[in-house]
Amino acid sequence: MPPIDDTSLAVALGANRPSAVGSPRTTLLAVQSRLEALLKAWSDQELVCRWSSLYDTVPVGGPPDQPAYCNAVLLVAGLKAPPSEAAALQLLDALQGLEQQFGRDRSREQRWGPRSLDLDLLFWGELRLEHPRLLLPHPRLHLRTFVLAPLLEAMHGSASR
Ligand code: ADP
Ligand code: MG
Repeated sequence: MPPIDDTSLAVALGANRPSAVGSPRTTLLAVQSRLEALLKAWSDQELVCRWSSLYDTVPVGGPPDQPAYCNAVLLVAGLKAPPSEAAALQLLDALQGLEQQFGRDRSREQRWGPRSLDLDLLFWGELRLEHPRLLLPHPRLHLRTFVLAPLLEAMHGSASR
């Protein structure tokens, strides 16, 4: 994997409710190729993709007694286009479209409640955004072990849990 730099981007995946394809773990496995295809179409280039393994994690925040999560991180390197607000918002739209295809219905959800698929953009190079729909870098990235552990694994090939 090339070094992390301004051509790198990361997406965090989470699920703790079954989707049409199966359990959260099955959902994340099914999403992997779809997400790679989405990123390829969005960037219009071949990409270097590196995946963490899947992590079973205890819910943080949100309503009490929600089911355990499955989490993963995808790290992408070698993006040719420079980071920009317009392109990042297009990517957010595409990520939310994929969430919906796996049964996500935001209108019926509690904040941080159970969901069949959550796709968060963690960072894109050094782009900083405070757009109403998109905050970059992700403002809770540094607070979430369930994001940091898989991110470190995707970056370096290992992470302690
Ligand atoms: P969370 O991911 O914090 O559990 P949701 O998935 O329900 O919450 O997303 C709530 C809103 O967060 C989305 O409508 C989206 O516009 C916004 N958002 C802000 N920054 C980001 C980001 N970096 N990645 C994904 N969504 C983001
Ligand atoms: Mg989200």
